[in-house]
Amino acid sequence: MKIVLLGPPGAGKGTQAKSICNRYNIPHISTGDIFRKHMAENTPLGIEARKHIDIGHLVPDKVTIDMLLERLKNEDCKDGYLLDGFPRTVLQAEALQQFLESNNERLTTALLIEVPREFIIERMTGRRVCPSCGASYHTKFNPPQIQDKCDICGSDIMQRKDDTEETVRERLDVYESQTQPLIDFYENKNLLSKVDGTKAINAVFESICEILGDEK
Ligand code: ADP
Ligand code: AMP
Repeated sequence: MKIVLLGPPGAGKGTQAKSICNRYNIPHISTGDIFRKHMAENTPLGIEARKHIDIGHLVPDKVTIDMLLERLKNEDCKDGYLLDGFPRTVLQAEALQQFLESNNERLTTALLIEVPREFIIERMTGRRVCPSCGASYHTKFNPPQIQDKCDICGSDIMQRKDDTEETVRERLDVYESQTQPLIDFYENKNLLSKVDGTKAINAVFESICEILGDEK
């Protein structure tokens, strides 16, 4: 199963990705998580990425595409994967399409989690994340069992630097201008499925499972 998760920042992609990947036993590939790991380690890629991420802009296509395609060559991607946060531009989607075609493969679906703009600010400013395993929490909608500790790995959870209201607004504008065109891109390929992301986390997951079915 090869899935692309689409949706605005704060739609719940990371949250649903964890459950989907557990259920279908596929790797969760989040370009945002990969960039954040590079930033934490201050690698040259991390230093380049930070310049864009901290102000809510996209990391340039070439850097992002090279990094993602390299990741897809790993052995663990042989039987499928879930892409969370990639593609974010038409150029990235075309690069992924070319990569798949050159390997005689195809996407199972591009799953769009739909959440209107007015929900996003509250979701993003209340978001807390685990810097170790990438799990996503919310102070009100999905608090961890022990305050400020990750349920999965016990690390201290934190607020992302790009989750301030000002940066979130910028990221939403970037989403609307650069990423939203991918909805048509995948619809034209008959690959798009949509779920209502305004429902509770479990209800969204149930809708996703109905779309994905039992196929593993
Ligand atoms: P994305 O990866 O799409 O940017 P996240 O999965 O990190 O989004 O979710 C953004 C924030 O919204 C997090 O704080 C998360 O706990 C919360 N969240 C996710 N899904 C829902 C939902 N269905 N209802 C309410 N809050 C949610
Ligand atoms: P995310 O964790 O998906 O919210 O991504 C955090 C930030 O990383 C984004 O706001 C972008 O700056 C950058 N980023 C992640 N994925 C991509 C991508 N596919 N293309 C360009 N920039 C990306």
